[in-house]
Amino acid sequence: MKKIALIYTGGTIGMQRDAAGSLAPVDFDRLRKHIPALELLPVELDVQTVEKPIDSSDMQPKHWVDLVERIENSYHHYDGFVVLHGTDTMAYTASALSFMIRGLQKPIIITGSQLPVGVLRTDAVENLLSAIEFAAMSDADGTPLIQEVAVYFEYKLYRGNRVYKRSSNQFNAFSSPNYPPLAESGVKIMSFPERFWKTTEPLAFWKNLSNAVGVITLYPGLDYGTLPVLPHWKVLFLRTFGAGNVPSCPEFYRYLEQLGQNGTVIVNTSQCVSGSVQPGLYQNSIQKGNYNVLSASDMTFEAALVKAMVLLGQGIGPDEFNVKFSASLSGEL
Ligand code: ASP
Repeated sequence: MKKIALIYTGGTIGMQRDAAGSLAPVDFDRLRKHIPALELLPVELDVQTVEKPIDSSDMQPKHWVDLVERIENSYHHYDGFVVLHGTDTMAYTASALSFMIRGLQKPIIITGSQLPVGVLRTDAVENLLSAIEFAAMSDADGTPLIQEVAVYFEYKLYRGNRVYKRSSNQFNAFSSPNYPPLAESGVKIMSFPERFWKTTEPLAFWKNLSNAVGVITLYPGLDYGTLPVLPHWKVLFLRTFGAGNVPSCPEFYRYLEQLGQNGTVIVNTSQCVSGSVQPGLYQNSIQKGNYNVLSASDMTFEAALVKAMVLLGQGIGPDEFNVKFSASLSGEL
């Protein structure tokens, strides 16, 4: 029987209304009570609850490190891991785990729900049971089918660092605009092994993260003369238009020069959720100057941001950062 660790971090799935009527996380026993089928699954399930379950809006890099340590400490004991997580920042956590755990050869399936367990029409039961099923799947020789960080939601299994939360009220809460699902569950499970991420990298856990990053969203009317250049910014994410386009006015380019003087690497990430940044496609692409601009290509904003935090945390210099940021570390490109 497969041994699966089920790690409960919080999120709507386990929430209940408090005295003021707001949803707040409660302990895992409630989940267990409302999903009796958990006991019937043909897996050995080991339920673990983090010290303080949270709404995922409270998620911080230190929580990612705790999660990674939990997985590191029991990596050889389990065949797979299921992480129950709030949907709000699930895409960031999925990206973080995918970059922080190198050489992963076991499934880490992250899921949650839009309605708490125990509520009529909840999506929690299907999401949780199917996530466990995926975590336990293996080939005839016992090799885990999924060997990457994936998000399971509403009948689809996605690469974790490819998703973003698209809806706050539909059950179909996640979308993976630039990479097709790894599997779909209906009456039968359809998996697409040619889409799976497989690695021969040695197992390693990167547990240092840096938050020396900034984000600026461009919009018509933004006063470029007032934009900040913070001394600690090693990387600034510019959320540009369309295929990575920017205004052509001198004030905007003066701002880029100031970032260059500050030693800040600029990452061009589009406000479009689908498609890719295409440097040079338009006259309004970012022009060359005394600054270093990298393209986020077709990475989600979430994946690109967390990738930068993880890479900066490795203490690498700008040249190595440029190379590693532009390469696919975990199938995110
Ligand atoms: N606010 C909740 C959270 O992210 C939303 C959810 O779980 O769906 O923790």
